Amino acid sequence: MRRMGRKFSTKIVIMMKVWDAHGEFCAKHQWEVIVATLALLACAASVERHANHATRSERCAGWARACPGLEAEYQAADAVIMTIVRCAALLYAYYQVSNLQKIASKYLLIIAGVFSTFASFIFTSALASLFWTELASIKDAPFLFLLVTDVARGARMAKAGWSAGDDQGKRVGKALSLLGPTATLDTLLAALLVGVGGLSGVPRLEHMCTFACLALLVDYLVFVTFYPACLSLVADFASGKKELSTDNPFMEADLKPNPVVQRVKMIMAAGLLCVHLTSRWPWTRDSGMLDGSLSNNSNPLPHDNVLLDSYVKWFSVSADYIVIATLLCALIIKFVFFEETRNWVIDMEDMTVKEVVPSEKPVFTIGEDPKADISVQTDDLIGYDETEWPTLSPSASATKLNAKRRPMAECLEIYRSEGLASALTDEEIIMLVEQSHIPLHRLETVLADPLRGVRLRRKVIASRFQTGDAVKSLPYLNYDYSKVMNACCENVIGFVGIPVGYAGPLVVDGKPYMIPMATTEGALVASTNRGAKAIGQRGVTSVVEDIGMTRAPAVKLPNVVRAHECRQWLNNTDNYDLVKEAFDSTSRFARLQEIHIGVDGATLYLRFRATTGDAMGMNMVSKGAENALKVLKNYFPDMEVISLSGNYCSDKKAASINWVKGRGKRVVCETTISSDSLRNIFKTDARTLARCNKIKNLSGSALAGSIGGNNAHAANMVTAIFIATGQDPAQNITSSNCSTSMEVCGDTGEDLYVTCTMPSLEVGTVGGGTVLTGQSACLDILGVRGAAERPAENSAKLGSLICATVLAGELSLMAALVNSDLVKSHMRHNRSAININQAASTTELTLKVPQL
Ligand code: NAP
Repeated sequence: MRRMGRKFSTKIVIMMKVWDAHGEFCAKHQWEVIVATLALLACAASVERHANHATRSERCAGWARACPGLEAEYQAADAVIMTIVRCAALLYAYYQVSNLQKIASKYLLIIAGVFSTFASFIFTSALASLFWTELASIKDAPFLFLLVTDVARGARMAKAGWSAGDDQGKRVGKALSLLGPTATLDTLLAALLVGVGGLSGVPRLEHMCTFACLALLVDYLVFVTFYPACLSLVADFASGKKELSTDNPFMEADLKPNPVVQRVKMIMAAGLLCVHLTSRWPWTRDSGMLDGSLSNNSNPLPHDNVLLDSYVKWFSVSADYIVIATLLCALIIKFVFFEETRNWVIDMEDMTVKEVVPSEKPVFTIGEDPKADISVQTDDLIGYDETEWPTLSPSASATKLNAKRRPMAECLEIYRSEGLASALTDEEIIMLVEQSHIPLHRLETVLADPLRGVRLRRKVIASRFQTGDAVKSLPYLNYDYSKVMNACCENVIGFVGIPVGYAGPLVVDGKPYMIPMATTEGALVASTNRGAKAIGQRGVTSVVEDIGMTRAPAVKLPNVVRAHECRQWLNNTDNYDLVKEAFDSTSRFARLQEIHIGVDGATLYLRFRATTGDAMGMNMVSKGAENALKVLKNYFPDMEVISLSGNYCSDKKAASINWVKGRGKRVVCETTISSDSLRNIFKTDARTLARCNKIKNLSGSALAGSIGGNNAHAANMVTAIFIATGQDPAQNITSSNCSTSMEVCGDTGEDLYVTCTMPSLEVGTVGGGTVLTGQSACLDILGVRGAAERPAENSAKLGSLICATVLAGELSLMAALVNSDLVKSHMRHNRSAININQAASTTELTLKVPQL
């Protein structure tokens, strides 16, 4: 069995490769494919019509005349069936187009889907003219075409073709390898299904079913040749045009067919094939094989008439006719709606078919603006079914869920055999989570779909902790969770939006910058902006020193003598080099600078300090320190590593070692503010500010026993920029160490010389939260995203921009304090009307409640 399975999967791989190569060929030889297809079209259009087809038409037209008794009945049936077909076609077309919005994230993709269908229609019409005397004779052809064609398929291919990722050819090839087999199966199934109409005996229906089969075939051929070539041509032509790109990378999961649906389709195809074989069997034999009444006929009919008579006989019982008509309709409805419905339940992997029922309009929660980029919104909303949220009455929802889900054993088998749970419905996955078969924290991984993982976790959490409405209010859409996974956060249930304002232009080292600040403290950005304005064109001058990141493991030796020996061993240059080699080998960028050793009895605190390129470097130095300890352990086997972090580092805690020795980047900024600016912008003078700085920032902080706190509010600017640019926000503790100094200066002694010294700015432009979309956009605004050509150039620049912003903020706050403006501006910018109103209504409520 296993070998058979392996053989089967090998065949599938080969088949996929063939499709892949074919798709790539079409995309890379666009012109050849397009010209060849158009040439074929021209040939088809110019070929003489087949002489026999007139005869066939006549034969069909004369068919009713041959059976005058049934003529009226056939005409009535004909009319009823055709009405149903037309209605079904229109409904299906409507359904497809409305579904396209969910598949395609841009209207362009919808156009692409419709174009593919239109192209197929043109080709089919040209070919049909070979078989029918007049195209007009099949006046219902457009209806039929609407019924058999798959517009969504074209849009999906366009989405793949225009997405970001590999080169054009590869993407189209890959898309075709995923869509091709499904398209083949769909075409086969649809042809068999439509072919059932060919058995009906109703001439016009037969006529049209033949056309439909042809249409299906042509649609399929166009889809695998002409269409990918056109797609690739358009993409080449418009390469670089942002509006053509779907922004999203090529997602295989979007195109992967659902194996369960595929299996159902295969079974349906096999069944239909049997129907065709049994139904058509008698016509392939000679007339002697037909039933007795015909074979015994003393006046045998010519072959055409024999067929005709058989048709007539078949349909002479009107009940049969009704059954067949009903079956045909049922099959069409099943074909159209069943598959979509199944996908609605099963195929969560394929984001394109999840239905949002009109009555279940997506509810836009806080932060989800329904008007904002409707295409993105609808893409993300797929699968968002608010009504499926478990309510506070679990029994009702459980009944609903049970009605849909398959048995546990079957779900488990699917999950285990595929190693993924993407083929299961939401309810089935929740069932596996509740039964501990899928850990809640692994949802994104087992679904291979971060957004769906987050959505399902919200559902589980809402029901488990009865927090339905509260969790629902937490935004989660329109967020790229793939960047969060295994990097920034676990057990994700959404995100919290923080407004980002800008302060600037702030001129730093001769260049103006707009500084993004994420904060909820009203007045902060405005105040910093005022500082930047006062600094003006003179700007801020900065000096940055790359001190390096630190990690200090605590190691214990058996006694103080051994501890001393260990310390001396490390102080030896050769030994230090050995340890450094081990440390440096763990990273391309981390380079050990020093091991500063603190002693407490027999315990040593080895403070490894290393430069870490453009990364903040905490993970890098931890990794390096761990490896270095392994080497040390070889020489001191009696050494016990108590903790990789011995708090001598010191990370995320106020500590004077960072204030004294520095950590990360040491940045010093200076500027001079003219007396005019002081007067016009700050409404004060240099002497007042310098005096306040001494009393508040120096004496006041000293009296409070502050470490690194000789400043007015450096942490405000540091934290706001940290959040905006994806720094580790908890590191604002050490990073906010700042000494602000203000002196009177200038010829007239009325200007103000200001400096800010920040010895421990822990910043990076690589790693951590810097990769997230919003955060990297803010780094981009500053022009320091990612790795610089020279390691640490970007992170150093970010350090100097933060320090300069701190300087601007310090100036502004100091001015507000000397003018007693602090409370006034906070009342204006920092008092939420919502809070006040809420408080008022609560008070009102309290007052209305009778006092007992
Ligand atoms: P990281 O993302 O863990 O490591 C940086 C990665 O970027 C490394 O793989 C590095 O390569 C690579 N890289 C590529 N180009 C680089 C360049 N130009 N400069 C530097 N690295 C470059 O980031 P990290 O800064 O070390 O750690 C930051 C994370 O640590 C944050 O998420 C923070 O919250 C967290 N953190 C950890 C601890 C801890 O104790 N571990 C403490 C506080 C915070 P290599 O592989 O060659 O080095």
